Amino acid sequence: MKKNMKKIECITVYASASSALAPVYNQAATELGGVIARMSCDIVYGGGGIGLMGKLADGALQQGGRVYGIIPGFLDGLEQGHTKLTSQQVVTSMRIRKEIMLDRGDAVVALPGGSGTFEELFEALTLKRLGKYLGPIILINTNKYYDGLIRFLEQSVREGFMDTQHLQMWSVIDAPAELEAALKNAAPWSEDAISFAAKDTRRRHEQ
Ligand code: AMP
Repeated sequence: MKKNMKKIECITVYASASSALAPVYNQAATELGGVIARMSCDIVYGGGGIGLMGKLADGALQQGGRVYGIIPGFLDGLEQGHTKLTSQQVVTSMRIRKEIMLDRGDAVVALPGGSGTFEELFEALTLKRLGKYLGPIILINTNKYYDGLIRFLEQSVREGFMDTQHLQMWSVIDAPAELEAALKNAAPWSEDAISFAAKDTRRRHEQ
């Protein structure tokens, strides 16, 4: 059975495209870029030069990190792509971009974001639940931004929509400085997750 014993060499980062955020969010994104570069890990991300994506990339590049963008042509055409990346791959759709971003990384990190970040994060969680993605998934809870989302995920376990084992799929940290430890401490995960992906209603009623 395949397990996530892989060395973390490249991290997939999801992050907001918004440039209208409080400084605390921008600082955390820049800091995350620097932390990942100093861990000698590559970054693969949405390729944006704007919002937290831009701060993340700049933070990593300033520290000599390698940053790979995967951007759909229509966004690059709107000049929203970062121009100083190690490489910028232009693809035909958001879907293809998401698949490449997840395949290339050995772990997922989500900075605060909106619907785009949520979608990317939830796809990673769903694939992990099905045993198709095995890497750690870390949420950076800057300014307690993700508190409501975390409570909602826990509620979905309490109400039987997910299993208690699914609580092990993600970890939450307050600041990028905790990333390395969170990656080391992430619960191992295997393809066997498919065996408890759908919660068994009979077990639920017996509880
Ligand atoms: P959001 O959190 O809604 O701002 O969406 C950000 C996420 O969706 C990022 O992780 C990107 O992969 C993708 N995305 C959304 N808007 C853009 C954009 N303008 N440029 C590049 N990627 C974007």
